[in-house]
Amino acid sequence: MRTVLITGASRGIGAACARAFAKAGFDVAIHYCRSAEKAEALARELSGCGVRAVTVQADVSDSKQVKAMFDEVYGAFGHIDALVNSAGVAHVGLLTDMTDDEWDRLIGADLSGTFYCCREALREMLRAHSGVIVNIASMWGEVGASCEAAYSAAKAGVIGLTKALAKEVGPSGIRVNAVSPGVIMTDMMAGFTGEDLAALRDETPLNTLGAPEDIADAAVFLASDKARFITGQVLSVNGGFVI
Ligand code: NAP
Repeated sequence: MRTVLITGASRGIGAACARAFAKAGFDVAIHYCRSAEKAEALARELSGCGVRAVTVQADVSDSKQVKAMFDEVYGAFGHIDALVNSAGVAHVGLLTDMTDDEWDRLIGADLSGTFYCCREALREMLRAHSGVIVNIASMWGEVGASCEAAYSAAKAGVIGLTKALAKEVGPSGIRVNAVSPGVIMTDMMAGFTGEDLAALRDETPLNTLGAPEDIADAAVFLASDKARFITGQVLSVNGGFVI
């Protein structure tokens, strides 16, 4: 059975990825940080679909917790075929108002967390000479967003990490790609008013905001054999917002 570890799978895009990978026949390790109940409920839901689902907890900005999480997943599944890095946080505000702690928290969750998880996954994938990594970036990592400078920097870092790693581990039979979402309706958008969201929708050529499933379908594709000759790519799933 193919297996996947999905970070940030307790909610939003990660949870949609967990459902989509389960539907594609993967056993799923559902990672969460604070939302234990949501992760457990999702595991029960997926177990009812005929795949194995386990939950694992870690703050991905802490490399020791990430290592312990991977040990737990290897203990449960024996191997990890695919890793989806979806855990992340956003921060909206002027860069000049941002504190060191706020910067460290964002870079820790969005960029360092992706690095720690890739490093742990690759140790085994390199031995197995196979594996797939899908990193969830952001269109703001491609073009930058006003008042989201740290977030844009972290996601640009995720894109650079994806492209560099693809070159580094491609000769070992491992593919690394990113999905770069546009505006997707999850808790991350909770701070935006109806007016903000209407303006964002108006700016989107397809005239609609995205759903977590739009990103999950792209992630499953990139992890599948149909994407066997695709690596180092950033698949933008944004309704045409950034082209
Ligand atoms: P979300 O609904 O707010 O969910 C965030 C997830 O990340 C939760 O599962 C949360 O876990 C986890 N998380 C946050 N900080 C963590 C940490 N330090 N360690 C471990 N887990 C942590 O967000 P989302 O919209 O699904 O976003 C998922 C990914 O897509 C993020 O990387 C985000 O930057 C990216 N993205 C989102 C959008 C959008 O419009 N929504 C657009 C572009 C990119 P707990 O709840 O268990 O604590």
